[in-house]
Amino acid sequence: MSSVDRIDLLSLTPEELRAALRAHFAARRQPGYRAEQVERWIFQEMARTFDEMTVLPVAERNALGEAFRIDEPEPATIQVSGDGTVKHLWRLADGELVESVLIPTERRLTLCISSQAGCAMGCTFCATGWGGFDRQLTAGEIVGQYRGSRRWAEENAYGPITNIVYMGMGEPLANRKAVHPSLTILNQGYDVGARRITVSTVGVVPGILELAGRPEQFRLALSLHAPDTDLRREIIPLEKRHPLPELIEALEHFDDAGGKRITFEYTMIDGINDDLTLIQPLAELADRVDAFVNLIPFNPIPYQPDWGPSPKQRIRAFESGLSDRGVAVAVRETRGRDIDAACGQLRGHTLVQIERHSRTATSGDAAPDPIPADLA
Ligand code: SF4
Repeated sequence: MSSVDRIDLLSLTPEELRAALRAHFAARRQPGYRAEQVERWIFQEMARTFDEMTVLPVAERNALGEAFRIDEPEPATIQVSGDGTVKHLWRLADGELVESVLIPTERRLTLCISSQAGCAMGCTFCATGWGGFDRQLTAGEIVGQYRGSRRWAEENAYGPITNIVYMGMGEPLANRKAVHPSLTILNQGYDVGARRITVSTVGVVPGILELAGRPEQFRLALSLHAPDTDLRREIIPLEKRHPLPELIEALEHFDDAGGKRITFEYTMIDGINDDLTLIQPLAELADRVDAFVNLIPFNPIPYQPDWGPSPKQRIRAFESGLSDRGVAVAVRETRGRDIDAACGQLRGHTLVQIERHSRTATSGDAAPDPIPADLA
């Protein structure tokens, strides 16, 4: 059987994995508990090969290898920042490259993972957006970033990963066929609490409504970056498809679903979206959906040489202006500047280095549709 025909066990939810393994072992007249043994080796031991599953007879390990695969990505490069931030560039089975970032703080170890190779959304402040879209990731490729990062963190005394954010490359809600099972796998298979997993979106309304419908309390972060439609369009082309009023209605629905925390991400770009008159409308939006606001100084990217982070004073004015209006707000420090930690930069540089074909940004009216038709 070719590797394409074999089922990638990392892409299966625990329920699917058990069913597939039970059917496999039943066909081989093996006892039912073999399925639970393999499940344990996948989720608890994080086995990368069937040969590691030494509780199984050799014949059964070989048979598993003929029917299934475990496609964990290999690190192409690993960069450790002076502030402890760690960026992995993963090489997938077909040679595609994606990034994940480990961000240690005093009480947490947060993993930021990618959901697509590249991104079709074309946000003008984002290195990944300028790099264009290559392909969707599978659930296994998303989960594989967690497994590889967790292994690295354990081997390098970083401790357990406490939080996961889908804020790496790609728009998670434009890849819901893989992102939904990956959420289930991380939550049920690897035991990461739903409240410790945040899905970030630039505003794919049908995806927000779908996420609101899930029983688990996964968190949602909206890349807001501007509190009015005209300004937001200049930064996030998807605003044309799902304008703010529609988006906020979807967030209200998410908020009504109960216990599901919403965060607004607001990247502060000097002279672009940091006028003090924007504080009031931003506070009003946050109030409507009870959102926590993260103010993030813009991390410069080569594609926007004239853009820089807002001055500290301006960021402080936003912080106190929001706080005075009763909004929960924090300024997020920029981490890993010395290792291309802005999403998409490491991959971008590596692609240039290995002289892959050049890509063009997909923002603008003539761009291909960034959301697959069946997910629009
Ligand atoms: S900010 Fe997110 S959605 Fe926008 S281009 Fe970058 S990766 Fe894509």
